[in-house]
Amino acid sequence: MKNRYLEVLEDSNVFFKENYSLSKFSYARIGGVVQFCCYPGDVEAFTELIYKFRSRNLPFKIVGKTTNLLFLDSVEYACFILTDFLNDVDFQGNKVRVGAGCLLGDFCKDLALRGFSGAEGLEGIPGTIGGALIMNAGAYGYTISDWLINVRVLDTNGDIRTLERRDLVFGNRSAPSLQGMVVLESEFNFNLGDHSNIERLTRRFHISRHAYQEWVYPNLGSIFVVPGLDIHFSVIEKFSKSKDAKLAVLCRTLISLWNLKPMFFIRRSFPEFNFPQRLMGFCFNRSYMSDLASKCTINTFANKNHSSLEVIKYMANVKMNTSAGLKIENEIVLDSVASVINEEQFKKEKKIIEEELNDK
Ligand SMILES: Cc1cc2nc3c(=O)[nH]c(=O)nc-3n(C[C@H](O)[C@H](O)[C@H](O)COP(=O)(O)OP(=O)(O)OC[C@H]3O[C@@H](n4cnc5c(N)ncnc54)[C@H](O)[C@@H]3O)c2cc1C
Repeated sequence: MKNRYLEVLEDSNVFFKENYSLSKFSYARIGGVVQFCCYPGDVEAFTELIYKFRSRNLPFKIVGKTTNLLFLDSVEYACFILTDFLNDVDFQGNKVRVGAGCLLGDFCKDLALRGFSGAEGLEGIPGTIGGALIMNAGAYGYTISDWLINVRVLDTNGDIRTLERRDLVFGNRSAPSLQGMVVLESEFNFNLGDHSNIERLTRRFHISRHAYQEWVYPNLGSIFVVPGLDIHFSVIEKFSKSKDAKLAVLCRTLISLWNLKPMFFIRRSFPEFNFPQRLMGFCFNRSYMSDLASKCTINTFANKNHSSLEVIKYMANVKMNTSAGLKIENEIVLDSVASVINEEQFKKEKKIIEEELNDK
């Protein structure tokens, strides 16, 4: 099989790396080896490579910055195509066409530079435009689909099409109409704003991220999409149904008080003193005590040299301790597996994914 990939790659003249360690290069620093990481230099080389792999039935996965991907360390992956070099940004008046591999942070800086507003909340999302569109990434009330005009994709039949925004369905961290598509580039239309306002908002969101999100250890942001955004209330809801309703009411009230605006300076001055998390851990949820839980929120794991199995167990544990309705946001990668290198671990991982994490 390896030789068949090599044949295509050598014939395509695409830059690639062999036997790349995901525990070193993936965003969460977890995962086994991928036999081939391919870096096409432009859209033509990208689509040509996909055609070639598809026509030879050689499995591959499109990968952005891997900021939402949990790779298994029990397997060896065959082939990833990375969009790093598809990062062109072309402004024409209020419109901008941007490549799938452009980083959201860079894109937001380009917008701010020209005084375009409307994407301030997206600045701190660490992935690419392609990865963001596939899951309708968003934060602080902004989503990537807000100012979208169209997306140029390679569809499952191998045709390049331009899909208009009005024909696409986007949900909360979901983009059903883009599933199975390969995003090549997209076009947006932004309005001119006021530089000082863009700066004020971007700074506010950036600082807020640092206060409330994990940035010491490798992680993948939120594990679950939580209805109502605060995972603590999901824990309390689950607990109130099964155990002590009065304690649940007390906890809900204390957390609501802690979240009030006047408490902001206390919250910001002592970010490591995460009151809701301490309260939850003390009252009912063992997940809060886990070494894997980020100090910022249990909805993020903090990788302190953990295996993919430990992370998956942690995810299942969080889900078990919260009320129904949590949808997994992180993607556990099972595509393009070349071989299993630790059968026992892989079996355990698959069992938990299928029985406890997949939405039934
Ligand atoms: C610290 C941290 C904070 C985060 N904060 C947020 C947040 O506030 N809001 C939010 O929504 N997300 C957040 N995320 C999650 C993540 O950053 C976003 O989902 C991001 O948009 C993923 O982009 P990526 O390039 O890393 O995609 P990847 O993780 O590489 O891939 C994700 C999925 O997209 C697919 N994909 C990637 N590129 C393409 C393409 N060109 N065509 C087709 N499919 C493609 C991949 O196959 C995969 O299925 C956060 C993650 C971290 C680590």
